[in-house]
Amino acid sequence: MCLTCGCGTDDVRLSLPEPHEHASTHAHDHDHVQDHVQDHVQDHVQDHVQDHRHDHEHGSETLLLEERLLAKNDRYAEEVRAVLASRGITAVNLMSSPGAGKTTLLERTIPGLGTDRAIYVVEGDQETSFDADRITRAGARAVQVNTGSGCHLDADMVGRSLRALDPEPGSLLVVENVGNLVCPALFDIGEHARVVIISVTEGDDKPLKYPTMFASADLVVVNKTDLLPYVDFDLPRLRDQARRLNRDVTVLPLSARTGEHIGDWYAWLESLLVEGRPDGAVVGP
Ligand code: MG
Repeated sequence: MCLTCGCGTDDVRLSLPEPHEHASTHAHDHDHVQDHVQDHVQDHVQDHVQDHRHDHEHGSETLLLEERLLAKNDRYAEEVRAVLASRGITAVNLMSSPGAGKTTLLERTIPGLGTDRAIYVVEGDQETSFDADRITRAGARAVQVNTGSGCHLDADMVGRSLRALDPEPGSLLVVENVGNLVCPALFDIGEHARVVIISVTEGDDKPLKYPTMFASADLVVVNKTDLLPYVDFDLPRLRDQARRLNRDVTVLPLSARTGEHIGDWYAWLESLLVEGRPDGAVVGP
């Protein structure tokens, strides 16, 4: 349960869309994923019952519970970091409000990045496998995590996704978090870097409205710059607000749709990959 907004994570489901090629070679993964999902549901039901018991007995213990929940998440995040380190995998946590263009940016990035490292994607959405299907069509292996009533991905879900995806050593793992500018910022998922995408149609006032998200970001991508002539969006104001919260944050304006300035994003990703050493030493925040 997310104690910030009260959403539940006890109805999480993972699914692996069939890759466009080698469709029949991964049939066993479904059973594998099913087992993980079952474990996950049982764990969370257990936690849920436990949390409710505490809530009813001691309503004032919410803060304590949140600390306990985040401490548990941090332990899972350490496990994720250990897996990533053992395989030299670089992991990016991609966050934004719904519709900012996370999936569209990935669809362009997968064929466009031009790296010889494989790209894997964890797709977080409350329902549907629409985005994992789009990522698979774009040429990357993806796992869809449906969080049900949950508003964020946690480190346990990412750990289970890693086991389902089984990414090859040296690859890039992108976690597309559930669309939400609040709760995903609170959960360490073992990532090396955090990217926040804000689109120009959302307004330039978001950093100060959602400070936790922007304060913890390594990169702010301003998407849909092709729409700038049609909206009131002050890019210098956005940059100023973001840097008031996060002095060194890089702000990259681009259009995932038209490809304008997309090279800046590729260069940032490549620098992150270069910084990741073959032994998988942690880079980033
Ligand atoms: Mg998406």
